[in-house]
Amino acid sequence: MTVDLATFEDVISRFPSGVVVVTTRDCKDKPWGFAASPFSSVSLDSPLVLVPLARSAECYQAFNSAEWFAISVLSAEDEVTAARFARRSADQFAGLDVETDDHGSPLLPSAVATLTCQRINVHDCGQHAVFVGRVTKAGLGSEDSPMVYSRRRFGRFPGAPRPVLTPRVASLDPVRHCVRCGSGVVFGVPEGDTVARHICRRCGNVHYVNPTVVVGCVAETTDGRILMCRRRISPRRGFWTFPSGFLECGESGGDGARREVLEETRAQVHIEGLLCVIDVPQMSEVHLVYRGTLRSLTLAPTAESSEVTLMTEAEIPWDELAFTSIGESLRRYFEDRRQKQRVVHSLDLRTAPPSENRDEFAPSVCGASR
Ligand code: ZN
Repeated sequence: MTVDLATFEDVISRFPSGVVVVTTRDCKDKPWGFAASPFSSVSLDSPLVLVPLARSAECYQAFNSAEWFAISVLSAEDEVTAARFARRSADQFAGLDVETDDHGSPLLPSAVATLTCQRINVHDCGQHAVFVGRVTKAGLGSEDSPMVYSRRRFGRFPGAPRPVLTPRVASLDPVRHCVRCGSGVVFGVPEGDTVARHICRRCGNVHYVNPTVVVGCVAETTDGRILMCRRRISPRRGFWTFPSGFLECGESGGDGARREVLEETRAQVHIEGLLCVIDVPQMSEVHLVYRGTLRSLTLAPTAESSEVTLMTEAEIPWDELAFTSIGESLRRYFEDRRQKQRVVHSLDLRTAPPSENRDEFAPSVCGASR
C-alpha cells in the first residue's frame, strides 16, 4: 500500500523547518544556489549535515561535481532572498551582495548562520540525491529570528523581535510590501493555489505577478528603409533597436506599438498587422512585434533614443542590436519581404540558438524602462 502523495505533502507541510540557501561555485567560477527547507544536521556529535537536491534541478550538475558547498541559514526577514533562490533564474546572484567562504562558495551576509561544508557522500534517492557534507567552518551571523517554513508559508517564531527592515537585495525582487496596506509580505502558496506568491502578512492580499507584454514595430518607408533607433536608456544603452516597449493598461497591442514609435522616434506610423509573437518565458515576457508603414519622414531623437534613422537591410548593424528578439524579428521581416509574403511568426527564445541568446530585457516587474 502506498500513501496518497497529496496527504503526505500536507503532513510534511505541518512539520516546521528552517530555510537555507545552499551555494557552490563551479570550475568556471560561476556561483550556483538553491533554497531548501529539507536540511538537517545528522547529529550534534559529529559535524555532518545533509540536504537533498532534485536531479532535475538546473544547478544539480554544479553541486554534483563540486567538492565544497556552503549553507546560509535565512533570517525571517529574508523572504525575498528565499523566493529568489526558490525559482529558476538566469542569474540568482545578480545584484546580490554576497561574501565568499575559503573555498569560493557564496555566503549571504544577512544569514543568521553559515556553514562551510566538504562533500563526503551523495546518496541516491530516486529523483533526488542527498548530499552529505562535513562542516569545516561554522559562523553566527545576524541576530534576527530565523525563518520558519510551515504550511507552505515562510514566517517567524511568534513573538520574535522584528528588526528594522533594511534593503538587502537589488530590484530583481517583485514585491517587498503589500500594495494595499504597506505591511510586509511573506512568500508562500496561497490556499487553493499551486504557485508561491507574495502574501500580505496583515491583510492577506495576494500579489499576482504575471508576464509582461512588450510591443514593437518594424516600420518601413515607401522606399523600403526601416525605422531604427539607438537606445539612450538602460538596459543595452547605445545599442540599436526598432521602437518597442511595455504595453500600457487600456491599450491594444497595435495602440502600444504606435505609441512606442511616436515616443522613441517622433514618427507617425500606420500599423499593418502582426509580424512575430515571441515568448521569453525566462524573463516572463511576451513580445508582440507589428509591421507598420511610416506616414511621414519626420523623425527626431528623443529622451529614449540618442539617434533615430532609416536603414536599408544592408545597413542594419546586426552585431549592435539591443536584444535577441530585435534581430529575430528583423530577419523574419526581410525574409518575408524577399518571399513577398506576410505571415505571423511565432518563436520561443528559450530554444533560439545559444549565440543569439544574449542579454534579454530588464526585469519588467519593477517597471524598468524600455
Ligand atoms: Zn496588506
